[in-house]
Amino acid sequence: MTLRFDPENIDQFKAQIRGIPGYPVGEDLPIREMVFESGALWRLPDLLLIAGMKTDQTLSVVMDRTPMQREGKDLKELILQILESAGWQMDVIWLEPDGSGQVHTDFPNINAVKARLQPNSAVLSVGSGTVTDIAKHACYVLQQEHNIPPLPFVVYQTANSVSAYTSNMAPTFVDGVKRTLPSRYPDVLVCDLETLRDAPQAMTVAGVGDLLAAFGSYADWWLAYRLGIDNTYTEFAQILMGPLDEIFLEQADGLKAGHLESMSILAKLIALAGLAMSLSHATAPLSGYEHVISHVLDLVAEKKKRPLAQHGTQVALATLLTTAGYQIFMDEFEPAEVNLENCYPTEAQMKARIGASFNPLDPTGHVASECWADYKIKLESWHTHRADFQDILHDWPGIRAQLHSLVKPPEVAAHILQAVSSPVRFIDLVPLPTESEVQFAFMSAPLIRHRFTLGDMFVFLNWDRETLWAQVNKNF
Ligand SMILES: [Zn+2]
Repeated sequence: MTLRFDPENIDQFKAQIRGIPGYPVGEDLPIREMVFESGALWRLPDLLLIAGMKTDQTLSVVMDRTPMQREGKDLKELILQILESAGWQMDVIWLEPDGSGQVHTDFPNINAVKARLQPNSAVLSVGSGTVTDIAKHACYVLQQEHNIPPLPFVVYQTANSVSAYTSNMAPTFVDGVKRTLPSRYPDVLVCDLETLRDAPQAMTVAGVGDLLAAFGSYADWWLAYRLGIDNTYTEFAQILMGPLDEIFLEQADGLKAGHLESMSILAKLIALAGLAMSLSHATAPLSGYEHVISHVLDLVAEKKKRPLAQHGTQVALATLLTTAGYQIFMDEFEPAEVNLENCYPTEAQMKARIGASFNPLDPTGHVASECWADYKIKLESWHTHRADFQDILHDWPGIRAQLHSLVKPPEVAAHILQAVSSPVRFIDLVPLPTESEVQFAFMSAPLIRHRFTLGDMFVFLNWDRETLWAQVNKNF
């Protein structure tokens, strides 16, 4: 299997992706090296030098306490030993779990790491998505505060779990609601294939799941663009990522068996996804309705002091709902039946609806006001671009054909999940959300963000969403 755009050969890769329509003109990708190799671990001291670090500089190593094994040895101990033997002085910054037993990407953690960094620090993160995001964002905030050039920062990726490692954005809990904040790229990405192979299988299948978001998110992004609500849309992400369904079906057995070649392909796709979003200056290419559903489930878990489920698997299960929603929308939508006047709720109506949705979860009203602050941007834009919606009503056959070309049916995602032995039903998710929580997430996801998705279409069209839920909910 060869990927059309392979991030392994960095100079060639950078030159090739500049030619993809939608690449941001004049922008240079600052990542110096991305390594996907068997035994990359042993090259770590050299890779730190490539990132611009100096051995007389103290290296801040950011990790959490999750035990990790590589070929039967303690991975974190091994990394520290290798670096010590190479002459590095290290300051290990341990991230501690909160009351839920997990470490979350939030400002208490980001600030705790930042407090241990200096303007002349060099930083290595060793972990999966959360550890990487906390370390990356601590570097970024420190750089901003001191108005200094980026600290040398190397990401040692410990699982193929989520598309966080190469992105210059950080999904962060703000008042309990996940927000994507501008952040920074790593200088070097290290994917040691044995480390990725020996990570828990649940993380590997979650990495596949996070990418399945594309089966609905390209369409969400295009729809928002066509409605005049999001002008960032290009085909860059789709071209860069390639035919994900074909690639996953081909690699499924290798991923299950832990073949290093398949680990490498998945790591590269995950790297491409982070770059697709960063270079599109938006998470929208790979984060649509399914991600907002996942964010609501995270919000519910956080408020109930329950650990978060594996992000990518939760996203994949939500994708089964949203892509089923697309099939129904494409089959059943009748523009002639739309009463345009009823499609434009007022600010007061939507503010009340957001309060009614979220105040039971958070009686302080913080969550509702955080959601409203972001939602009202979308509502205003929806009102402003009324003519674009009318266009869509007139040109529905063309619109539907375009959506058809961008969406994959839920059966394709389900087939891939089965092929890699991923959970395919919410009942298999750990920890398990209740059916009414998933329904709540499906219904209220459009209300938490300014991101426009198919979910908003259903809200504004006053679609019978109880019936819709009964139609899409085949995964419990
Ligand atoms: Zn994701």
